[in-house]
This record gives sequence, C-alpha cells and structure tokens, in this order.
Amino acid sequence: MLEELYQEIILDHYRRPRNKGKISPSDLQAHDTNPLCGDEIEVTIRLAAGKIAEIKFDGHGCSISQSSASIMTQKLAGKPLEEARAFIEEFLGMMRGAIPFGGRELGDLKALEGVMKFPVRVKCATLSWHTAQKALANATESKS
Ligand code: ZN
Repeated sequence: MLEELYQEIILDHYRRPRNKGKISPSDLQAHDTNPLCGDEIEVTIRLAAGKIAEIKFDGHGCSISQSSASIMTQKLAGKPLEEARAFIEEFLGMMRGAIPFGGRELGDLKALEGVMKFPVRVKCATLSWHTAQKALANATESKS
C-alpha cells in the first residue's frame, strides 16, 4: 500500500512537474547529466535577500530523475542559501545511506526512499540535487 502511494507521488511529479523551465536572467545555474540512464538536468535560481527566491529545473530523463527534481524545487524554494545547502547535504546523505531516512521536513521526498534498494537508480534520484549543489556553490558572498 505504502509502495503504491509512493509510486503515485513519483508519477504525479513526473506527469505534472512543478517549477519546470528556465529562469532568465538567473543568478545561479548549473547543468549535469547521468550518462548511465540518459538523464539531464539544468537548474536555474534567482536570489533575493540571501534566499532562493525562485528555482526551476529543466531537462529530460526517467521518472525518478524528473520527479526528484520537481520535488527538490518545492523543497528549496524560499530557503536561505545556508539552509538550502544543508538540506541538500542531508538528503544526499540519506540517499547514500549515511544518515537514516526520515524527518518531518521530507514530505514527498519520502517517496524516494524506495529508490535506495536500486543502487543504479540512486544516481537518477540525486542528479538534480547534485546540480543544485553545484549551482549554489557558485553563489558569491555579495549575492548571499
Ligand atoms: Zn534515470
């Protein structure tokens, strides 16, 4: 039952991706691919007052990669840069199995826990997060 619910969440984000597209002009951007699966993600971010005012993703690939990106934009929007960086670190740690999966902030992200059973798909689930991490690493102090 729970597995089915999680499947639904993933498919819902895949079919109706949130924050899909490109912000132009953007303050931060990064692009990354997962050649193992053919997934491609571009993340664009607009900053305001040290926070992620707007974040969008563009790209194509499997349902795991695209739904994870969609959920990610919802999770990171509005967060101060430091908080966003910490949240990304935490999620990546969970997907690596370094930190127990859970926490009240997860919401739809909980749907991705099942992906850990398939190590090849973990790269699909974390692609957009690594891309956002790369984009945020480009944030200069003056912008934050
Ligand atoms: Zn994939």
